[in-house]
Amino acid sequence: MPATDPKTHGPKTQSHLDLSDRLSAHNYSPLPVVVANASGAWVEDVDGRRYLDMLSAYSALNFGHGHPEIVDTFVEQARKLSLTSRAFHNDQFAPFCETITRFCGMDRVLPMNTGAEAVETAIKTARKWGYKVKGVADGQAEIIVCEGNFHGRTVTIVSFSDDAQYRDGFGPFTPGFKIIPYGDAAALEQAITPNTVGFLVEPIQGEGGIVVPPDGYLKTCRELCTKNRVLFMADEIQTGLGRTGRRFACDHEGVQPDVLILGKALGGGLMPVSAVLASDEIMGVFHPGDHGSTFGGNPLACAVARKSLEVLERDRLAERADRLGQRFLDKLRGLTGRHVSEARGKGLLIGIALTPEAGPAKAWCKQLLHEGMLCKDTVESVMRIAPPLVIEEMDLDWAFERIARTLRGERP
Ligand SMILES: *Cc1c(COP(=O)(O)O)cnc(C)c1O
Repeated sequence: MPATDPKTHGPKTQSHLDLSDRLSAHNYSPLPVVVANASGAWVEDVDGRRYLDMLSAYSALNFGHGHPEIVDTFVEQARKLSLTSRAFHNDQFAPFCETITRFCGMDRVLPMNTGAEAVETAIKTARKWGYKVKGVADGQAEIIVCEGNFHGRTVTIVSFSDDAQYRDGFGPFTPGFKIIPYGDAAALEQAITPNTVGFLVEPIQGEGGIVVPPDGYLKTCRELCTKNRVLFMADEIQTGLGRTGRRFACDHEGVQPDVLILGKALGGGLMPVSAVLASDEIMGVFHPGDHGSTFGGNPLACAVARKSLEVLERDRLAERADRLGQRFLDKLRGLTGRHVSEARGKGLLIGIALTPEAGPAKAWCKQLLHEGMLCKDTVESVMRIAPPLVIEEMDLDWAFERIARTLRGERP
């Protein structure tokens, strides 16, 4: 347990904050903690203070920090072979493809590195499928997305964001997207035209504020897509790989997407690994040279991702997230009152929505930092709770005490 009472920054912390403030682009506004070491769900800062990680790098650390077996795989593979580019084969690639396609129940995989790259890949896939297979006239393909979406920050992806800040100053934008309300299947039905090639959706909106759609939404959307020959494209970059208490969040409704987008935890917390999975018919639109990435499918990434999937299955981390998450969410629901309007989520992807009286979530997250716990606001009024899936139950109890005490106290 940590001995943490940092009402002020430690001396080393302050010098790191000053230097990065002076030398780095200000495209982030991190909480004032400088992490230097970590193991499992716990991290230590440069001044030796310990914190419980209740964010896990936006779900990229599902396996916790420094998972021993994944680190071993990483180190051994780094010594043997790290990179070939796709100009040549490497001996980790085919086994990775075998493991991930079996795990996902899909025919084929296209590996990339970051989440945004995988989303871009999925968009290219849907468009090309639309033109070459569905028969949409050249240049006319439409993709439907949802209000409040978050799929990354490339120019094309922010082109269909409805967050003004993500777009401000970055135009001109990529056309061909239509935005509909999230959680509203009737809106999807109305928006589909003969030119619609795909529906891109997060099964639970993460950055949008841990927004869980109504029961049956994904299933109805799946049916609408099938009926209209539109690709159902699930962005499970944040919700996938056990996070919500199932293998994928779509599993809660027994929905199999046409295009599955993975990232974050796929890299075992060690490196960026992302992937797009689809059927033979859909993935078959790609021919050599159509798309690629120097680091995509590199042997180090393949070895680490394969080991991560093995650990996820063997250690039943989805079941663990389900059990721990339900218990934690039940306790959080008991905090509803002056500062908390709602606690919601699935598995260990949880949002605590604050009341207007509570003020901005960021101030409460800073308060919890002083209590020795790392978490982060998503939208202005929601605190996101997403610890590593390997977290111990007693650590969650420890966190709950801090959250309860803080939120029952005065506004920071
Ligand atoms: C994080 C995230 C992305 C983007 O992933 P990056 O690796 O940051 O590019 C895309 N979609 C969802 C749902 C995400 O949570």
